[in-house]
Amino acid sequence: MKRDCDVAVRPARESLASRYAGRTVVAIGAHPDDLEIGIGGTLAKLQRAGAHVVMVVASIPKDYEVRYAEAKRGAEILGCELRFLVDDKPCRIEDLKTCDLVGMLDGVIKEYDPAAVLTHSPVDFHNDHLLIYNACLPTQRLACFDFFSYHPTNCRPVPVAFHPRAYVDITDTIDAKMHSITAHSSQFGGRGLDTEMYREFAHVQGRIIGVPYAEGLDVMRMLLV
Ligand SMILES: [Zn+2]
Repeated sequence: MKRDCDVAVRPARESLASRYAGRTVVAIGAHPDDLEIGIGGTLAKLQRAGAHVVMVVASIPKDYEVRYAEAKRGAEILGCELRFLVDDKPCRIEDLKTCDLVGMLDGVIKEYDPAAVLTHSPVDFHNDHLLIYNACLPTQRLACFDFFSYHPTNCRPVPVAFHPRAYVDITDTIDAKMHSITAHSSQFGGRGLDTEMYREFAHVQGRIIGVPYAEGLDVMRMLLV
């Protein structure tokens, strides 16, 4: 006999396909590899669901050609368009004027008119990531897109105070995520670091919400209808 407690109680779920299919989603990261680490599974899922997904990488601080090629490969694996804010030379984000950075991001929003924007979190510990998050905030004045932030991205595990309010089931795209992260070999194998912690972390996130693998997002702004 089936008891009530045998039935898993799960929150209602809206598919990404129904929300963003046929629309454009812009994901913004400070450096090559941030988007693959933070939301690679989500981006692959959106792309497979029929969204036009644009991966915006702000800049490449050094090793320009190697990291450019790795970013290109990562985006190819996820099936996304790749766009750099500064695409002709190495550049550190802190060397950009804030008004110029905001102007470049405004240009991206005006060009793509996205249904959603995903970027770094205000609780990230990397100053470049915080600069990008802060420069993304004013773009919200231009259009009423959904606005999310993703888990702080790092190459080594560190404690962060990030508490997702929404989760994306990436069970079908965890392999694409892992594949896209390993495309950035200069940041992992090249430095003696392994990438398996990202699979483990996605598994823990999934356990929280009742699926095998998930990525957590903080909801900064979202229209419910
Ligand atoms: Zn970064």
